[in-house]
Amino acid sequence: MTRTLERPPKAAEPMLAGEKTRTENFLVKLFAVVPLLALAVAVPFAWGWGLSWTDIALATGFYFLTGLGVTIGFHRHFTHGAFKAHRALRIALATTGSMAMQGPVIGWVADHRRHHAYADRDGDPHSPWRYGTTPTALAKGFWHAHLGWLFDRQKTNAQRFAPDLLTDRDITRINTWFPALTVLTLLAPALIGGLITLSWWGALTAFFWAGLVRVALLHHVTWSVNSLCHMIGERPYAARDKSTNFWPLAIASMGESWHNSHHADPTGARHGVRRGQLDMSARLIWAFEKLGWATDVRWPKPDRLDRKLNPGHHPAHRGRATRPEGG
Ligand SMILES: [Zn+2]
Ligand SMILES: [Zn+2]
Repeated sequence: MTRTLERPPKAAEPMLAGEKTRTENFLVKLFAVVPLLALAVAVPFAWGWGLSWTDIALATGFYFLTGLGVTIGFHRHFTHGAFKAHRALRIALATTGSMAMQGPVIGWVADHRRHHAYADRDGDPHSPWRYGTTPTALAKGFWHAHLGWLFDRQKTNAQRFAPDLLTDRDITRINTWFPALTVLTLLAPALIGGLITLSWWGALTAFFWAGLVRVALLHHVTWSVNSLCHMIGERPYAARDKSTNFWPLAIASMGESWHNSHHADPTGARHGVRRGQLDMSARLIWAFEKLGWATDVRWPKPDRLDRKLNPGHHPAHRGRATRPEGG
């Protein structure tokens, strides 16, 4: 478990740290459910009126801006230390990741490090296998891993799982800005949409599509990595958990759905380690490295991965492991 962390967690610290307040829990529900409702009415709303090319462009832009903040920033950099980042890049990644409305950075990292430490065992905050392997248990487990776990009032202990971030002043500051960044992520598209179209209607449709609907789509793609990518797909590598590679989500998840490869090599900067596996996040980390913004990048080592291959799976990326592909 220490392999996944820059520093091992302090064993003396308990796994959990108290409970969310009623207000906190209400806000989590509000911000998980309102974008979802927006998504539910989005499709009928789209036929006929209310969706312009400006909205589509803004929604796509904010989707990838905030999504990459999570995949490259929250996940690969802050959780797993897959590369070192210059201060400006670190701040930018923590800020854009916070705008994905998936919770403040320190809590996100603590939950995810806990997930790797206990993957699909007792203590994992979001395992779909929590209730067992019967169809009913799995249906319940899917719901829990996808969304239900967010409503769990138990808080992961950041003192134990993210002590490195608690002592970083830039990061603790961005952590406290989370409510303001939530407002920003919803209002910025509205403001830009309003300015482009010079109309209140343009601001409203941009708020709806590039604000609410975009947040909901990204929520569900991220949550699918927790649920689907521990249930269905390929398992080329031996891992101590049930993680899978699920190709249909490669582009939408920006490379995160190569989740079995990720559990096999958690600190690797590239999750799509096999030939042809698109990993947009790795491509961008590669560009940051070329620009000198990212250093000490941990590109996957083919020999190490090949030793973990499950029977029947071939080494798929010989000689090209240091170069990210696609994206
Ligand atoms: Zn996982
Ligand atoms: Zn991870």
